[in-house]
Amino acid sequence: MNLRNSSLFIFALASIFSCKSTSQWEGQGPIQIIETVDKPISIQEKQTFDAGDGVFFSNEFNGARLNRVDRLNDTLIQITILPENEPINPSPWYAFKIWSEKPEDFWIQFSYGGIGFHRYFPKSSLDGVNFSNVDSLDFFQPESEERRPEMAFLKVESSLDTLWIAAQDKVGTDHVQDWKNKVLAHDFVELISIGESKHGRPLEILKIGNSDDKAMLMVISMQHPPELTGFLAMQAFIEGICSDSPQAIKFRNKYNLYVMPQMNPDGVSNGHWRHNAGGIDLNRDWINFNQPETKALAKFMEYKVQETGGKFIFAADFHSTWEDIFYTNNEELEGNFPGLIPKIIKRSSKRIPDYIPNIRPNEGTQRSVTSNSYFFFVHQAESMTFEVGDNTPRDIIRMKGDYLADELMKILNKKTFR
Ligand SMILES: [Zn+2]
Repeated sequence: MNLRNSSLFIFALASIFSCKSTSQWEGQGPIQIIETVDKPISIQEKQTFDAGDGVFFSNEFNGARLNRVDRLNDTLIQITILPENEPINPSPWYAFKIWSEKPEDFWIQFSYGGIGFHRYFPKSSLDGVNFSNVDSLDFFQPESEERRPEMAFLKVESSLDTLWIAAQDKVGTDHVQDWKNKVLAHDFVELISIGESKHGRPLEILKIGNSDDKAMLMVISMQHPPELTGFLAMQAFIEGICSDSPQAIKFRNKYNLYVMPQMNPDGVSNGHWRHNAGGIDLNRDWINFNQPETKALAKFMEYKVQETGGKFIFAADFHSTWEDIFYTNNEELEGNFPGLIPKIIKRSSKRIPDYIPNIRPNEGTQRSVTSNSYFFFVHQAESMTFEVGDNTPRDIIRMKGDYLADELMKILNKKTFR
């Protein structure tokens, strides 16, 4: 099949599936309590795949995910991406590089072994650092019910120069480290090591502020490895707190904010879809604390409270999903500053034209297995999980993170905790 024919084939395939109209994202259903003791994971074999005709694929870099390559015909190459273990949320992360001995045009067919569904719009890069969306004309994804296409097709032009393809704009753990170093350059920021991940990577917190720890804030992100957009919102939020505005300076003299930007470094580094190196969804381990990452953070927070006699008044956990959504605590239950979270969400959202935030307060009154629940029920910290859309424009993500920090500082600067 030549290239023209394979394009027609894909057009035909895409048109078989009907479009589904979109309504407001209703968020996830109730969270089940699951066992969180270690489960085996399969580590992908790092290698270069020979796809024939002088075309090569590789997963030999930090953050890569690619398990198999099969040439289906002259112009169609199937790649298979598999999860670290099962059962798993079927949202595959992928990242790989391609090169060829001579310039070649061909199609890649993404396949997920019947386990996953194509979720992330592909990004490409010529240096492995700066990624941008591929041309939408080069990407086809059959429409399906409940956003669950089992395969997707991407047209690539390869050459001797390496081309990187990935599920999100940043890959691996280096960009997180670079950003932490940038934040650490401020004289009011300190690095705190709280332990090691299962594979021995450092678990690190940044302490931001010059206060006495009587009233503390906690921010975390990237419990789930592919969720970069949550990380981007967290970055903007933290950069707002670190700014040199009079408001931020006042805030840092009154409060200390602790941030753990990357909860799951092993998962990110190994290109996991969701779990840590113990094969567990970390955001289901906030009661059992069987995993080193969750255990270290809870120990740190409980130690801070004991050491200082202070308390956590606010906590936020940043994630990604289909569309922006805030999960908040049951509004009938009161933490250390009732009403704080709905107020900052509403005030910050008003500053963005035509944006009505999707807020889902928890209806339960019992502690559950998530970070959000741990922060609220154990520490009485007013807490939220902010899930940022996979495709939310990056400038809007920045605005949302920045305005949330701004409105939070405005309110907390007027308040005194004893
Ligand atoms: Zn998540």
